[in-house]
Amino acid sequence: MGVKLLLEKAHVEGIRTFEVYRREGGYRGVEKVFKTMSPDAVVEEVKKSGLRGRGGAGFPAGMKWSFIAKPEGVPRHLVCNADESEPGTFKDRYLMENLPHLLIEGLIISSFALGSNATYIYIRGEYAWIPDILEHAIAEAKANGFLGKNILGSGFDLEIYVQRGAGAYICGEETALIESLEGKRGNPRIKPPFPAIKGVWERPTVVNNVETLAAVVPIINMGGDEYAKIGVGKSTGTKLISACGNINKPGVYEIDMTISVEDFIYSDEYCGGIANGKRLKACIPGGSSVPILPANLLFKTAKGETRYMNYESLSDGGFATGSMMGSGGFIVLDEDQSVVRNTYTLARFYRHESCGQCSPCREGTGWMEKLLKRLLEGKGKISDIDLLWDIQRKIEGNTICPLGDAAAWPVAAAIRHFRDEFEWYVNNPVESQTRNYGLAHY
Ligand code: NAD
Ligand code: SF4
Repeated sequence: MGVKLLLEKAHVEGIRTFEVYRREGGYRGVEKVFKTMSPDAVVEEVKKSGLRGRGGAGFPAGMKWSFIAKPEGVPRHLVCNADESEPGTFKDRYLMENLPHLLIEGLIISSFALGSNATYIYIRGEYAWIPDILEHAIAEAKANGFLGKNILGSGFDLEIYVQRGAGAYICGEETALIESLEGKRGNPRIKPPFPAIKGVWERPTVVNNVETLAAVVPIINMGGDEYAKIGVGKSTGTKLISACGNINKPGVYEIDMTISVEDFIYSDEYCGGIANGKRLKACIPGGSSVPILPANLLFKTAKGETRYMNYESLSDGGFATGSMMGSGGFIVLDEDQSVVRNTYTLARFYRHESCGQCSPCREGTGWMEKLLKRLLEGKGKISDIDLLWDIQRKIEGNTICPLGDAAAWPVAAAIRHFRDEFEWYVNNPVESQTRNYGLAHY
C-alpha cells in the first residue's frame, strides 16, 4: 500500500463529523499553528514541502502564497477553488464529500498564513449536495472554537463562506471565478495583474484548489521537509488521481508519484487493468485539457524510459511525445474506443463552455466541433484534417485564458498520434456512420 496522507481516514465511520475527525487526530495542525507558529513560518513550511497546485497548473503553492501583496489596511482573501469541472476529474468531490473537516482544517491554517479573515469556498453548481456537507462542517468547527472570533485564544478571526456556482466550466478559471464571486458574469480577466496582487474586490487574493489546501494539513503535521521526502524530484507528496474509462476499478486513488503508469493501470490496488479483457488503446492522463497519449507512449517515454505518474515524467517529451499531470483526471480508452469521437465530444464541450470573449476561442471551438462532426458523419475530406490542425494552432496561445489552449491541445494530440484514424473516417464514409473506428479497425 502506498503512502496515504489525505485519504488515510476516508473510510473511518463517521469521519464527516467533527467528533470523529477530532478523535482521529483532526485539528492538531490548527493547534500546532496557533500555539507555535507565525504566519510566515507556515508559508515557509509550505515552501519547503515543494507542494504544487493540485488544480492542474502545478504552480508551487508556497511561492504563490509569498507573492500575496500586503498593502496597509487592505483586507486579503483566500479562495478555495472547488469548481472542479474538468471532464474526468472528481477527486475534489471525493475529498469534500468524505473529509469535509480536512478541507476546513486546511483552510484555517492557510487563512492564518495569508492573513485572510474572510475565506470563500467557490463550488460548482452541479455539486448541489456538497455545500450542505461543508456548511454543516463549518458550523461544527465554529461551535468548537476553531472558527469565528479569536480562534483558540490566538486573536485571529476567521469566517468561511460557501458560494455556489451556477454550472459554468469557465468559472473554475481563477479570474472568472473571482468575477463570479463578485456577482458578475464569469468572464476571465487578463493576467497580470495576478489575483495575488488584485483579486476579489481588487484585494490581494490567493486562489487554491481543494486538494492543495487539504494537503497543507499533513504538511504542517509532519513538517515541510518530511513531506518533501515523499515522491520524487519536484513531484513531492501525494496526488489524488480520479481514474475512469475502460478500467476494472474506476475511483479516486492517492498515489505517491513514484508509481509507474503501467503499474497504476494494471495493479489491483489501483485501476485493476483494462475492463472486459480488452487491449489498452490510449489514455488522457490529466483531465480533458491535456494531450492524449497512445499506448506505445504511455508506459515508456520516447527515450525508452519508464513513464511514472508524476509532473516531470508525464510531460517528458513535451507535447510531441508526452502529456501532463494536469488535474489528475485519468481517462483510459480501450481498443473499441474511437479517438475521433472522443475528440468530438471534448470539442463540443469546449465550444459550449467558451465564454466568447476572444474570437480564436469563440469561433475556433465551433469550427473544430463542426469539422469533427462532419468527419464522424462520413462527410469529411482529407483537407478537413489539415484545417482542424490549422485552427487549433491559431487558437493556442492567442486567448485570454487557458480554455483556448485546453480546447486546442486535445485536437492537436489526437491528430498527431491518430491521424490514420481521422483518415479512416474520410475513406470509409458508410462504415463511419454506423460503427466506431475502434470496432471496425481491430
Ligand atoms: P496558470 O499557470 O495561469 O496559473 C497557476 C497559478 O499560479 C495561478 O493561481 C496564478 O495566479 C499563479 N501565478 C502564476 N504566475 C504568477 C505570478 N507571476 N505571480 C503571482 N501568481 C502567479 O494556470 P491556471 O489557469 O491556474 O490553471 C490551468 C490548468 O488548470 C490547466 O492546465 C488544467 O490542467 C487545469 N484545469 C483544471 C480544472 C479542474 O477542474 N481541476 C479545470 C480546468 C482546467
Ligand atoms: Fe473566454 Fe475562451 Fe477567451 Fe477563455 S479563451 S476568455 S473561455 S473566449
